[in-house]
Amino acid sequence: MDLKVYVLDGGRLVTEDASIFSADGNYRGEHWDMANPCYLVVHPLGRLMWDCGFEDSLADLPSGYNSGRSIWSLPKKLAQQLSEMSIDPQDIDYFTLSHSHLDHSGNANLFRGSTWIVDEAERDFMFRADARQSKEFKNYDALERAQVRTFTSDHDVFGDGSVVILRTPGHTPGHAALLVNLPQSGPVIFTGDLWYTCRCRTTRNIPSNNTDRRQTFESMARIEDLARELGARIIIQHERADWESMPRYPEYLR
Ligand SMILES: [Zn+2]
Repeated sequence: MDLKVYVLDGGRLVTEDASIFSADGNYRGEHWDMANPCYLVVHPLGRLMWDCGFEDSLADLPSGYNSGRSIWSLPKKLAQQLSEMSIDPQDIDYFTLSHSHLDHSGNANLFRGSTWIVDEAERDFMFRADARQSKEFKNYDALERAQVRTFTSDHDVFGDGSVVILRTPGHTPGHAALLVNLPQSGPVIFTGDLWYTCRCRTTRNIPSNNTDRRQTFESMARIEDLARELGARIIIQHERADWESMPRYPEYLR
């Protein structure tokens, strides 16, 4: 069986003032409409879920939720999307997040039966005292009792180099990207929130809420170098054009 990547819908973010995506004051008053996908990697040795979108209860709000800065919405619950693929969350062997922000970790507790693969720095960040007081803590609190595999450098998930988690800290302390070496598409790197859109990749603007600006620039440079070296395609997860270009179930990235 060949390696496959299925694309799932983790919601939308629409803002009328994108200035939050730049600490340098760009994007003021701009309308941005962003995707929020998550991905299911199917490998002969197991299934890996990469990110899990906004929490499913968001789909119960027909006009979405106004966070004050943007409108979040979810067209279809992730549990429902998996069920339409005849997949029970219990059948997901490995679960990992690009990072723990609520648009990526909303349904993490669905995967409490999986082995959670996480950068030690991100795990500490998620379970620090003030994170435990946050509204979104309940979305992922069960991971504290999940089977866990932690890493402190890049992590080769299946041990054959086909699916590798790349440390790219800066947006959060343990932010990560995912390299998948697909049989037909070749190497593809899913970059989490290293960049929000293609434009951010060109301008190298970073949001004001990143935990470490210097680390973010180093991570960006690292992924640019690696992509060049491997000839890899970069998928910017919130970028609408990248989302539109992806196959939908029952099709998959091959
Ligand atoms: Zn995000």
